[in-house]
Amino acid sequence: MRYTSPVHCRMDPVLDPNPQLVALLIALNGFAISAAILLAAHGYPRTISQSMQIFSYGKVMVALAFALVAARGFTLGPTIVLADGLGVAGFYTNYVAARILQGKAHGLGLPTAIVGLVLAGTSYFAFVPHDLMGVRVVVSSALVAILGMLVFELLVRYRLPGSAHVIAGVAALAVGIALLARLALSLKGMGQPIPDDSAGWVEKGFLLLVYVAATMGTVAFVLMCNDAFNGELRHLAATDPLSGLANRRRLFERGAEEVNRAHRFGHPLSVLVADIDHFKRINDTWGHATGDHVIHEFARIMAATVRDVDVVGRLGGEEFAVVLPETDQDTAAEVAERLRQAASASAVVLESGEPVRITASIGMAAWNAGASFQDVLNRADAAMYKAKMAGRNRVAVTPRGGSPLALNVSAS
Ligand code: GH3
Ligand code: MG
Ligand code: MG
Repeated sequence: MRYTSPVHCRMDPVLDPNPQLVALLIALNGFAISAAILLAAHGYPRTISQSMQIFSYGKVMVALAFALVAARGFTLGPTIVLADGLGVAGFYTNYVAARILQGKAHGLGLPTAIVGLVLAGTSYFAFVPHDLMGVRVVVSSALVAILGMLVFELLVRYRLPGSAHVIAGVAALAVGIALLARLALSLKGMGQPIPDDSAGWVEKGFLLLVYVAATMGTVAFVLMCNDAFNGELRHLAATDPLSGLANRRRLFERGAEEVNRAHRFGHPLSVLVADIDHFKRINDTWGHATGDHVIHEFARIMAATVRDVDVVGRLGGEEFAVVLPETDQDTAAEVAERLRQAASASAVVLESGEPVRITASIGMAAWNAGASFQDVLNRADAAMYKAKMAGRNRVAVTPRGGSPLALNVSAS
């Protein structure tokens, strides 16, 4: 059965795109780019690599769908059912790739149900009433629903750094809107598909838009992977691998930022330096691995004891620092004491059941106007040594601007 479009747009024959040729270009592009992404995926960390592979498979499915359209046109029959099933599965796979990249879960139930419904619906319309519009309504509804999920994931729920996901989201949104417009215009009797170059302008415009959006979406996806990879590298460069806390470099960066903020707004700021007591003895008695466990446990206690806005970092060895923004001397002394108590109430339990007790000596210094982060850290460190000398498992405080050190031992 042949359809003729009531709306004709005369074009220069050289510029007039043949829909099957455009479908073929979309397919060839898809095959070539998915092969390139699949090959490159090996060099990336696991989650990113997995996402790239899944994206490539989705792209192959969509490319196959367009290859079928290129070969057979829009003739009603098994080919159109298969092409629509592949297209829908491929688009859903793009959504899965975006979720995997962010480390989010994805199920098999929903895509199986959607693809099943599309195959059943398109088969019915293709073989029973032989109604191409019915096929189009089924497949367009499914694609618009999937694109809606993808747009929401990319523009609203995306949780990785960078801005490439916005470009990908806009590309998906454009295809979704174009699908709806094409459906609405087709239902009005405009631009029904014809399997040759006499197709209406709606069909030609739609295919050209898909061609551009698919290319743009793929480039955006590759850039999203790059953003994700850079984010991972930045995280690694800022994190201490043993404790999971900010490393020394990050601690100094954040410390300087917070000191600047305190200076700008005239707000208080305090710094703690904590050092695990007799740590060498722990290493010597139970071994280095147990020492590492103690460092890990102490770091966990520190992070759990302070607020989210506080910056906890490992200075090196068994020595840590906490930057407490918006915190005056008295409050910081309370935080230090709470931390000391939390540590001394804890232990790392060995396989033998033997507990390895943890205590720490903590020094505190309040920032005074004009001081750098290094200044206030030095004063907190000097206070920590005073706490050691006074017998360990203590908190010592350097009063604001206090020099020489006045010791305020608040616990034993
Ligand atoms: P004090 O109570 O005076 O702080 O004594 P201490 O034994 O804790 O301090 P000291 O500085 O004498 O020893 C620290 C030890 O920490 C020495 C070093 O071998 C060990 N160390 C440094 N980094 C690590 C690490 O990452 N893992 C383990 N297990 N040990 C470490
Ligand atoms: Mg120590
Ligand atoms: Mg030390």
